[in-house]
Amino acid sequence: MIRVRFAPSPTGFLHVGGARTALFNWLFARHHKGTFVLRIEDTDEVRSTHESVDAILGSMAWLGLDWDEGPILEGSGVGSDGSGWKSKGNYGPYFQMQRLEHYKKYLRQLEDAGRAYRCYCTPEEVEMMRVQAQLEKRPPKYDGRCRELTEKERRDKEGAGRKWTLRFKMPQEEKTVIHDLIRGEVHFENILQQDLIIQKTSGVPTYNFACVVDDHQMEISHVIRAEEHLSNTPAQVCMYAALGWTPPQFAHLSMILGADGTKLSKRHGATSVLEYKNQGYLPQAMRNYLALLGWATETSQDIFEVQELFDKFDLDRCQKNPATFDFAKLDWMNGMYIRKLSQADLVEASKPFLPKDAAQQTPNLSELVVLEQEKYRVLSDVPKMLDFFFTEEFVYHWDDLNGLMVKSPHLKTHEALERLIEFTESKFFKLEPFVETQIEAALREIAKDLGWKTAEVFHPLRFAVSGRLQGPSLFHMAAALGKGRVVLRLARLKKSIKESAAK
Ligand code: GLU
Repeated sequence: MIRVRFAPSPTGFLHVGGARTALFNWLFARHHKGTFVLRIEDTDEVRSTHESVDAILGSMAWLGLDWDEGPILEGSGVGSDGSGWKSKGNYGPYFQMQRLEHYKKYLRQLEDAGRAYRCYCTPEEVEMMRVQAQLEKRPPKYDGRCRELTEKERRDKEGAGRKWTLRFKMPQEEKTVIHDLIRGEVHFENILQQDLIIQKTSGVPTYNFACVVDDHQMEISHVIRAEEHLSNTPAQVCMYAALGWTPPQFAHLSMILGADGTKLSKRHGATSVLEYKNQGYLPQAMRNYLALLGWATETSQDIFEVQELFDKFDLDRCQKNPATFDFAKLDWMNGMYIRKLSQADLVEASKPFLPKDAAQQTPNLSELVVLEQEKYRVLSDVPKMLDFFFTEEFVYHWDDLNGLMVKSPHLKTHEALERLIEFTESKFFKLEPFVETQIEAALREIAKDLGWKTAEVFHPLRFAVSGRLQGPSLFHMAAALGKGRVVLRLARLKKSIKESAAK
């Protein structure tokens, strides 16, 4: 039975790297008809927050990564008081801080068996060891000074009120070999490994221990996680052995780098999943893009429907080499997904990015939003490209117009432009119904009457109604705006020309 888990620490937002880990676990579970577990690793009592749990669950829900077991998300913000979490699944609770009893039992077991020992070193003493190692140019390592204390020495230290942590006694000889499903065999010399702290002075276990107990108790078959945890794996594998358990299989995913070859960070762009949501990326595009960070099929296929990902995803095609986060490719992919949306879905997806009163101001909103569907890369492009639909206060980009007038044989002067506008106003007044085909015919007639090229008529009028030279087709745009708004805009431009001439 395949059981995998995503086990975030709620100490911040869901990062792109975390989302990729969640996604790969989800795809693996779906491909093998297994179970996807969400477990919250909140044993960092200082940095874990309920807001972060909300953000992580919210990000996963946005990406459509549904989990079969774990905390339940009931509407947004549920549980933010910390007490109201419910969970589904038979292996709960799924918050580590609610599982302390389980860990205590096994911590005692290790201590009683002599596989863990109390360490009385203060944080300052441990820091000194680190500094010294640095000076001597060797990797930092706890020096083991509490490893072989006698019963009496322990009693004395505790009598003197010294606090203790519990450290796992790493074997000092031989190697630990990890058969990583992505990296192959990875060898670790045990002597180079730390005696990791597995219980803090507060009595709470650390990540490395809690994760072993949970993965065992939750019957996790495959641990698929970020590469940075590869170095924790030998100690974890030794803990499994010390507890008499069989470890799960491990798969450590590739690192995610920015274009400059350094680890993806804020310097490269957005790193939090919710930032992508807020910038107007579609969850299905984001999911597709993340799937390609460290995984590929044998073809150069980029666009995958979700069912296709379920069918095709497996660990054997995951790469160990770092993946590069390519923002331009994500934008391209998002544009592809935007183009696939139905009119109703595009309007729905765009709503959070449009002015609040957009729907009231423009009853034909859905007609407008699709006009530029081919061009959007992110949903926040919608209001940028269509601002003139939602306000009469849009800006005229005069430089564009001046550039146009220089090139046009008949439109050299402001008087010529005024004349064109007046001509159009009087034609439009009479135009009934004010629809695309009629508008086009009327404008062609104007060009003919004036003896101008159609482009000399269309471009300045596009400028008049939208403030710019690029945009949706003029006839569509004018019809969508309606006669009243178009005529007002013609008048506004005429007034502006007069004012600028008077200056
Ligand atoms: N809580 C760890 C993290 O957020 C998870 C490590 C693991 O998957 O074992 O990085």
